[in-house]
Amino acid sequence: ELEGIHFAMDFLKQFNRYVAAKKIPAKEFIDVKEKKVVVIGGGDTGADCVGVANRMGAKKVTQIEILQKLPNCRPADQPWPMYPKILRTSSSHEEGCERDWSVTTKKFIGSKGHVTKLLAARTDSSMKEIKDTDFEISADIVILALGFLHPDTAGLLNGSKIELDQRGNIKTDENFMTSSKGIFAAGDCRRGQSLIVWAIDEGRRVAEAVNRYLMNT
Ligand SMILES: Cc1cc2nc3c(=O)[nH]c(=O)nc-3n(C[C@H](O)[C@H](O)[C@H](O)COP(=O)(O)OP(=O)(O)OC[C@H]3O[C@@H](n4cnc5c(N)ncnc54)[C@H](O)[C@@H]3O)c2cc1C
Repeated sequence: ELEGIHFAMDFLKQFNRYVAAKKIPAKEFIDVKEKKVVVIGGGDTGADCVGVANRMGAKKVTQIEILQKLPNCRPADQPWPMYPKILRTSSSHEEGCERDWSVTTKKFIGSKGHVTKLLAARTDSSMKEIKDTDFEISADIVILALGFLHPDTAGLLNGSKIELDQRGNIKTDENFMTSSKGIFAAGDCRRGQSLIVWAIDEGRRVAEAVNRYLMNT
């Protein structure tokens, strides 16, 4: 209900329109100039929001993450060629940002209908809140860069017989075919929130699979 709290995708899309010199109605414009911006979510989307907030002239940018801080070096249990889970610092972070880990947000506090701070607490390694660790973070604008989970089932998938996997993504066989014969899936909707390289790879492989299917039917 408080003003000043926005979803990351609204913020990022708006910035793309701004860079493309498209007109943004004043009422919709998320103005962070000279504001204290708190980005909730320590992933890549959060990093993009940090970069955009800096470029738009934010006074201070803070990024908080519920998970623990990752190590700087490759841990012994993740030898090469595994992709190691290590701390990543992007150019967005280098442009200026305070980062904090093991932080959960308990509530937003506001004044006159606008957010002014977050009530936060520390978390343990299982993301559970640690008792008596409450603290506050001052904020004029909060960007929610979290919760990117599975495809939206309210639209195309609603009422379809297409099965989902345990994580809520579209389930396919090794040929990318869903539980509905002749319907295929690839990319984020199948493997979950991922990377462009995987989407390109799966796009190519699903095209081959569709071709094989059509040639045999
Ligand atoms: C903010 C953000 C930053 C990211 N940064 C990076 C990065 O730096 N590097 C990287 O590798 N990856 C990044 N990613 C991830 C990357 O964007 C995705 O992994 C990739 O785009 C997945 O491709 P896709 O084709 O599977 O899905 P998408 O790119 O999501 O494409 C799906 C398309 O389907 C359309 N669609 C949805 N429903 C329907 C429907 N019913 N009918 C018709 N069309 C429909 C959507 O509008 C969309 O255009 C980022 C993601 C986000 C959200």
